[in-house]
Amino acid sequence: MSEKYEHTGEKGEYIDSYYSRTLNVAQEFLPLLEEITTPVCIIGGGMAGVATAQGLVDRGIKPVLIEANRIGWGASGRNGSFVSAGYSLGAQKIVEKVGKEHARALCALTVDALALIKKRIGERSDLRGETDGLLNVSWFNERDAVEKNIECLNDIMGVNYQFWSQQQITDLYHSKRYYDGYMKPDAIQVHSLNYTCHSARQAQEGGARVFEKSPVINIKKHGNGWKVMTKHGAVIADQIVMCCSAYIGDLNFKLSAATLPVATYVLLTEPIGDRLKSAIEGPYGVSDNRFSSNYYRTLADTRLFWGGRVSMFNPTGAKLEKIMMTDLLHVYPQLKGARADVAWGGFMGYPVHKMPQIGELEPGFWYNQGFGGSGMTATVAGGEVVSDAIANGDERYKLFEPYGLTYAGRPFGSVIAQTAYWLFQLQDAYKSWRLNG
Ligand SMILES: Cc1cc2nc3c(=O)[nH]c(=O)nc-3n(C[C@H](O)[C@H](O)[C@H](O)COP(=O)(O)OP(=O)(O)OC[C@H]3O[C@@H](n4cnc5c(N)ncnc54)[C@H](O)[C@@H]3O)c2cc1C
Repeated sequence: MSEKYEHTGEKGEYIDSYYSRTLNVAQEFLPLLEEITTPVCIIGGGMAGVATAQGLVDRGIKPVLIEANRIGWGASGRNGSFVSAGYSLGAQKIVEKVGKEHARALCALTVDALALIKKRIGERSDLRGETDGLLNVSWFNERDAVEKNIECLNDIMGVNYQFWSQQQITDLYHSKRYYDGYMKPDAIQVHSLNYTCHSARQAQEGGARVFEKSPVINIKKHGNGWKVMTKHGAVIADQIVMCCSAYIGDLNFKLSAATLPVATYVLLTEPIGDRLKSAIEGPYGVSDNRFSSNYYRTLADTRLFWGGRVSMFNPTGAKLEKIMMTDLLHVYPQLKGARADVAWGGFMGYPVHKMPQIGELEPGFWYNQGFGGSGMTATVAGGEVVSDAIANGDERYKLFEPYGLTYAGRPFGSVIAQTAYWLFQLQDAYKSWRLNG
C-alpha cells in the first residue's frame, strides 16, 4: 500500500480526499469548553445541521451548532458534488404513496432549496463547478421508460428536464454502456466541503455559535427544555435539532434504529491529459440509472472524479482504488492506464423508505436526517422547514409525516441491506442482459 493511502483520517480531522486537499477555509471553529444557554441547539455539523442553523438565523433566532469532528466531516464533505432538486426516492414512487398534490408540495421544497443554495453561494466561484447541468444516462435500452420518467419529473417537480438521445449522449461521452437519458439544466456541482464550511461561517456571522471537535455524549430533559452534554461543556436549550445522519451511533436509539449507514465511494485520478477526450468530451456531470450507479465529472486539470457503488462496507486505500478503477474501466476501457491519486468513502444515512426523516420526536426535540444519496438539496429543504416550524410554527414539516422513523432492522439491518444491494445489482445485470442484448 502506498504511503498516501495510509492517512484515512483520524476521528476529529477530515479524511484524505479531494475536498480536504482543496479546503480553502483556514480557520477552525473552537471546541465547546463551557456551559451555555441558547433557544435552539443543533447537533451535527453536516449540510443538514448547517442549513438548519442558517434557516434559524434568517428567521431571527441565534442557535448553537455542535459538531463532533469538523464542519462537513461526514457525507457532506466527501460527496459526489451533484446538487439537483428531488429526493433519493423517485417522483413516481412519491406520487404512488402520497398522491400528486402532496408529491408536488414535497418536490417544490427541493426546487426552492436549490435556488437557496445558489443564492447562498452567490458570487463565490470557488464553491461551484464551472458548468451547470447534470446528465442522467440510462444503462438500459428502454427509450419509452426514459421519456415517461421525464414527463413525470417535469409534471411533479415543475422542472424542465430535457430528453437526450443515445446519439447526443455518446457524441460527448464515448461509452458503449449508455442509451438515452435526460439533462437537468438547473442542476449544479459544488465543492461540498467548502460550501458547508462557508455556510457555517455565514450562520456564525448571523449570530449562530458554532463548535467543532465536541461530540455530544448525552442529552437529558432539563426543565421544559434540554441539556446537551459534551465531554468538556454543555448546552442548555429550549429546543434541539438532531442532524447526525449515518454517524449518529447510540446517541438516540429511535433515530439511529431508523437509519441505515450506507457507504459509497469516490476515486480521483491523476491528470489524464489529452487522452481524457477519447472518453469524455462533455462538460457536464453524469450519473446513470442503475441501483448502484456511477456519478462522475471531469476537473479542469483533466482529472476524473469518479463516484459509485453502495455498500455496507467501507474499504479504503489501494483496495478501494482497485474497486473504483475497475468500475471506471468497465464504462471507459479506453482509459486503461489512468492512475488513481486518492480514493475515499463516506456513509449516507438511508431510511428504509428513501425519504428524509423530518419531524418532532417529542415537544422541542426535532430531527432532520436520512437524506440518502440525493441529499444535498434535501438537507437544505429540511433546514428550511424545521427552522420555519421552530421560528414561526409553520407546519410544512408535516409533509414528511407519511415517511416516518421506520425501523431499519438494527442490529441486523446492515446484513439485510447488503443482501438486498447484491440482489438489486443482480437485477440490474439481468435487466441489462434482457434489454441490451
Ligand atoms: C461519497 C458520497 C457521495 C455522495 N454524492 C452525492 C451527490 O453527488 N449529491 C447529493 O445530493 N448527495 C450525495 N451524497 C449524499 C449527501 O452527501 C448526504 O445526503 C448529505 O450530505 C447528508 O448531510 P447530513 O448533514 O444529513 O449528514 P452528514 O454530512 O453525514 O453530517 C452528519 C454530522 O453529524 C455529526 N455527528 C454525528 N454524531 C454526532 C454527535 N454525537 N455530536 C455531534 N455531532 C455529531 C458527524 O460528525 C457529521 O459531521 C453522497 C454521499 C457520499 C458519502
